[in-house]
Amino acid sequence: MTTDDKANTGAAQNGAAPAEAGRDFIREIVAADLSAGRAQQVVTRFPPEPNGYLHIGHAKSICLNFGIAEEFAGRCNLRFDDTNPAKEEQEYIDAIERDVRWLGFRWAGEVKYASDYFDRLYGWAVELIKKGLAYVDDQSADEMRANRGTLTEPGKNSRFRDRSVEENLMLFAAMKNGKFAAGSCALRARIDMASGNINLRDPVLYRIVDAAHPRTGTAWKIYPSYDFAHGQSDAIEGITHSICTLEFEDHRPLYDWFIANLSVPSKPHQYEMARLNLAHTLLSKRVLTGLVKGGHVSGWDDPRMPTIAGYRRRGVPAEAIRDFIKRIGVAKANSQVDVGMLEFSIREALNKTAQRRMVVLKPLKVTIENYPEGKGEELEAVNHPDDAAAGARKIRFTRELYIERDDFMEVPEKKFFRMAVGREVRLRYAYFVTCREMVKNAAGEVVELRCTYDPASKGGNSPDGRKVKATIHWVSAEHAIAAEVRIYNPLFLDPNPSADADTFAAGINPHSLEVSNDARLEPSLADAKVEVPVQFERLGYFCLDKDSASGKPVFNRTIGLRDTYAKDVAKDQAKAG
Ligand code: ATP
Ligand code: MG
Repeated sequence: MTTDDKANTGAAQNGAAPAEAGRDFIREIVAADLSAGRAQQVVTRFPPEPNGYLHIGHAKSICLNFGIAEEFAGRCNLRFDDTNPAKEEQEYIDAIERDVRWLGFRWAGEVKYASDYFDRLYGWAVELIKKGLAYVDDQSADEMRANRGTLTEPGKNSRFRDRSVEENLMLFAAMKNGKFAAGSCALRARIDMASGNINLRDPVLYRIVDAAHPRTGTAWKIYPSYDFAHGQSDAIEGITHSICTLEFEDHRPLYDWFIANLSVPSKPHQYEMARLNLAHTLLSKRVLTGLVKGGHVSGWDDPRMPTIAGYRRRGVPAEAIRDFIKRIGVAKANSQVDVGMLEFSIREALNKTAQRRMVVLKPLKVTIENYPEGKGEELEAVNHPDDAAAGARKIRFTRELYIERDDFMEVPEKKFFRMAVGREVRLRYAYFVTCREMVKNAAGEVVELRCTYDPASKGGNSPDGRKVKATIHWVSAEHAIAAEVRIYNPLFLDPNPSADADTFAAGINPHSLEVSNDARLEPSLADAKVEVPVQFERLGYFCLDKDSASGKPVFNRTIGLRDTYAKDVAKDQAKAG
């Protein structure tokens, strides 16, 4: 968040949605175009390149494009911009479709692909050649770059720029037919090498690429540039509002030039918005690919990844991501959003839906001396404090229990009101218990607490009005299920981590994953389902991980109960030195 946006963040964290008040500028434009009859129906598209998984930045574009189509009774296409076969894979296509659906959106008709339009794009390239507006350039990529000029100097015309239409047609057909090696020539638009806008200095329209395409195989030896494919694909699909991020603002004159010079079926208009940037997070696909390929994370769906698949596996509900995107709104100026905003939306969603359970992450044994050996009883625990319909469950109380090690202090600090020798506390849903003595091992560590309970306090209710200052969670030692719990910390400690492909790895938080191997779950968690969030009382929100299939249950911590992000970062920074 920039300083200017601080007020908004504050409002959002108090539950007010800043974007609610006014419609964003793109929705204003759509509404105006519809009411003035400039468009009969709004048609948008989400145009990912299948060269990686979708991340939270894409979610902004998805929510906007699909959201507008929903709100204004229009259509939104899912179109893969699959023009660079060297980097694109079927796995990414499948993952992107899955993630868009999981976010809760449905595209109009069949999935579309820029590669569906390769024939028509080729035809339009020929049309430009015939109009004298495109030429085959034999300069090497290095020469082209050297002759492109700079922001302050004009470029130089290629010596191949004035080839005849016939020669260009012949050479372009030869390129298509695989007569030339990759890199030996390219088709360029013939616009203006002296233009103040570098994008108009004879941009490349087609290159020779020697790679199999996931959909067209080896049928094509040449591939259109993103710039040449994008706007014309929009025109084919009748896109009325083509929404992209600000870095394409300078490309708009080029897109408009293509549309003006080609016999396209419709004239889309492009609108640019700010990218989503999130503190402590890198959203460049190059970096995300590097994290995966470099083995810094377990995969694209590692719960530390800012990918949609990562958030899903971590237990973040789609509703929370949609709510977050709604709160940040759509602006024309780039800024950075605080992670606290996303976490606020996650807690809001989970607090409503997650059932409560008791789990001990770091167990400390408790023996209730006056509770008969071999005895056990079932106590009732509510599943959700604010939702009676969620019902209740039975939990086992026995003589031997586990409590959280952190809920006991040998020498209690000033404001520590939980378990200590001589102190009475409430065991949630169960009884008042008093710690009589601690047992230590040879190393001097506390390994057990000997306690007594008050049988008159069943359900955790005070028998005589006397009060205890703390209520703690517990599980039955005999019945609890052993589990692994994974706690995720920020992947980057720096709020603005370096996105440099060669050095970003140096900024990775060495403590981004903490594993607790000795957690104990209340038995009802045997029924937990992958990705279904649960609140472990007093600890946070968790969900079962797919790794549990191999035996011992594994839970991911989605998020803690309170906002401790800044503190966690400081702690890991201190540890990392
Ligand atoms: P890279 O990360 O390499 O820059 P990309 O994120 O632009 O690639 P695309 O697959 O081209 O990848 O993105 C699809 C759509 O998502 C585009 O319309 C793009 O503008 C939008 N988009 C991508 N990143 C963000 C972001 N951080 N915020 C908002 N929209 C984004
Ligand atoms: Mg892109």
